[in-house]
Amino acid sequence: MSMRFFLRDEAQTRHFGTLLAAFRPGRAMIYLTGDLGAGKTTLSRGFIQACGHVGQVKSPTYTLMESYVLPEVTIHHLDLYRLSDPEELEYLGVDELDRPGTIVLVEWPQRGLGVLPQASLTLQLAHLDHAREVTAIAHNDEARQWLERVAPHFIE
Ligand code: ADP
Ligand code: MG
Repeated sequence: MSMRFFLRDEAQTRHFGTLLAAFRPGRAMIYLTGDLGAGKTTLSRGFIQACGHVGQVKSPTYTLMESYVLPEVTIHHLDLYRLSDPEELEYLGVDELDRPGTIVLVEWPQRGLGVLPQASLTLQLAHLDHAREVTAIAHNDEARQWLERVAPHFIE
């Protein structure tokens, strides 16, 4: 099951992240795909701040992973763009990240295929002239229900 949303500007990309956070399940493995500048980090910022993180959300481009231990949820935000060898992921212990109470957001998941746990939700971001669109693909029933809750709240 998939749904597509039009993201007019940066604020709307954040808004979509905020809504996903508001209706989030107890655990999720989210893959974010799309070119450089497609809005993967912007959406992640909206999500992480809506989960209660106060302060900046750094792009994990150089550190590979930034973790946020918040009162209600732990979030791991990964960016695998610079990953040269999927084995590096084993050092990060990615196979243990997908567990109850934890949400994982992964930019450039293609670089970690085979080591990363399977996605429950894939968010494909794409440039659409000067705006963006996101295609959200649910890989299980819980993720499908998640999107069905988000959709009516999304302000076009
Ligand atoms: P990525 O992590 O995919 O490389 P970023 O989120 O770092 O992308 O950067 C996205 C850029 O596009 C930012 O400059 C942001 O202001 C802009 N942007 C985000 N969403 C939109 C949108 N819906 N329409 C236009 N520009 C956007
Ligand atoms: Mg990014």
